[in-house]
Amino acid sequence: MGMTMQLIQRQKQEQRLEQRLTQEQRILLRTHLFSLRMELVNILREERYVPKAECPKCLRQLTPIEIICGFNRDPNDYTTCCSACGHRFEPKLICFYDGGQMELPFFCDSQALSQLHGKENISPDELARKYPAIYRSAIVHHGTIKGAFAKIGIEYRFEEVSDWKNKIKPFLSSMPDTAIAECVGVSVSTVSAMRKKLGKPRYKVSNALLTASSSSVGDRYYVLAKGVYNKSKRKR
Ligand SMILES: [Zn+2]
Repeated sequence: MGMTMQLIQRQKQEQRLEQRLTQEQRILLRTHLFSLRMELVNILREERYVPKAECPKCLRQLTPIEIICGFNRDPNDYTTCCSACGHRFEPKLICFYDGGQMELPFFCDSQALSQLHGKENISPDELARKYPAIYRSAIVHHGTIKGAFAKIGIEYRFEEVSDWKNKIKPFLSSMPDTAIAECVGVSVSTVSAMRKKLGKPRYKVSNALLTASSSSVGDRYYVLAKGVYNKSKRKR
């Protein structure tokens, strides 16, 4: 990896800054970055993914970050945890595509990885068709199928995202280069070089928090996912 010392220093600075955030700011930031990530995935893949979980016991609509934090990361336990009443139940992933939508089980990051074993010779299109929930859960958590396979030490030889250069432009500076690279399936240095060439500043936690507080992106995400979330329930 061509990661320079300078880049490592900067990442450490950002990490230190993140550690100083309050719990509320941290959740706000994570929610904001998750929304952006799903928007980027949407633009790259022409499918929108929305994690959905309404607690059957107290009817609370969990936010995507609550759903992800509520997983046990146990390959055999598909449930998440209600942040209000503690009840455990299985969340869904709604996939919106041109002309329709489908409701799938939503797996946690480690479940998506463990279920990919033995599927490395299946093309992305076939994987999406035969194993729709594994495919999409893996993308939500790991950015690409190739990236997910890499985490379990398997090389995935198929091309997934093409024609991405113009599509990532609006996300440069708003998201860390690492996160963009993960969703495209290219190296971080490729994204950084492109960003610098366009004269765009690197992602900053402080700027992201400011944007998140003004909540334009978050709201846009919730509006786009209309019917899935009740916006007012986010204000606690
Ligand atoms: Zn509940």
